[in-house]
Amino acid sequence: MSEIIVQKFGGTSVGSVERIESVAEIVKNASHSNTVIVVVSAMSGETNKLIKLANHFGENPDKREFDALVSTGETISSALLTMALHSKGIKARSFSASQISMKTTDSYSKAKILDVDAEKILKVIEDGTIPIITGFQGITEGGDVTTLGRGGSDTTAVAIAAQVNASRCDIYTDVDGIFTTDPKIVSNAKKLDSITMEEMLELAGQGAKVIQTRAVEFANKYNVPVRVLSSFNDGEGTLINLKEETMENALVSGIAFQKDQVKFTLHGVGDIPGTAFKILGPISDAEVEVDVIVQNVSVDGKTDFTFTVSAEDQDTVTKVIEDIKSEVEFNDLMIDSEIAKVSIVGVGMRSQAGVASKAFKALSQNDVNIQIICTSEIKITMVIDKDLVDKAVQVLHEEFELDK
Ligand code: ASP
Ligand code: MG
Repeated sequence: MSEIIVQKFGGTSVGSVERIESVAEIVKNASHSNTVIVVVSAMSGETNKLIKLANHFGENPDKREFDALVSTGETISSALLTMALHSKGIKARSFSASQISMKTTDSYSKAKILDVDAEKILKVIEDGTIPIITGFQGITEGGDVTTLGRGGSDTTAVAIAAQVNASRCDIYTDVDGIFTTDPKIVSNAKKLDSITMEEMLELAGQGAKVIQTRAVEFANKYNVPVRVLSSFNDGEGTLINLKEETMENALVSGIAFQKDQVKFTLHGVGDIPGTAFKILGPISDAEVEVDVIVQNVSVDGKTDFTFTVSAEDQDTVTKVIEDIKSEVEFNDLMIDSEIAKVSIVGVGMRSQAGVASKAFKALSQNDVNIQIICTSEIKITMVIDKDLVDKAVQVLHEEFELDK
């Protein structure tokens, strides 16, 4: 058997029967030199349409039924692509999550993959048939349908690639690859030929939307090389490298940003052991991801505790904080949704100083006030006013000469 590659096609790539026809052509060509496994998203707009239908009978439909409904978009595209391949004389067969035992946890709409029946998939490819597998879907131990969260088909593809030991997972989308930043904000943003897995993890986690963060985490954990490329244009895309290139590490590889953020500040919190846990524990129990977390030096035994969450979690977090009021003493709760995060990422930062000061200088010269700064070895995240994000990204892109 030739090298196995997993090809994943996103919503726009399979957005119409014409698009499905061109995708079938891509799959057919790849199958001449590789053993191919395909994972598909729903046709673009389909998942949103299903969510809208679900909300017709109330804002909070039953979680099990919700997933049963919104998972069907992928079923449509997998069957259609299979038919398209048949029309080209290629042996293919569609598979749902249940048919390949894509086992997940039972947290509906955010289910996590536990296991996949690799044997079943391998049997299909050994027979010379191309499996066309539904992304996004899973099943619980009890056989109920779950979904993996928006953009979850990327994770399906990488998980399958890991389980069958594929030599690569190709994520086909409607852009040419990973860019230095969003070309909609910076017109001369550049497509990267390669990027390290670490950088991609940070960029995806900080808002670069091309590939789901969980998919990158999976790829990193199971050493799956991933390539992001266009199904519309020819090109090599961007390879996400498992190994760090040692020769010429970019100081800054990319800039990511997130506008849909909310900043919570508990003002006047007691500076006593256990406080951070009492605040963040229940938030994490509510399955909300917290990002920038800052606690300052206390004055008179009181301090401020600040963190950011995604805007969709604002109500949940507000409620959690209401609930812990009796246990955690604080003076005020401040909620600010007029903020955004901008992050610069690059493995070169590890060995070179001055990146932060260069960024701060450029922003100050352009009247962008930085509210919070938070760093990791290869990332600097700044919380700023939401209205200034585009400007900040443009300024930083220029300052670090990412267009060169
Ligand atoms: N169809 C799902 C969504 O729109 C999953 C995916 O496309 O990856 O989020
Ligand atoms: Mg996607």
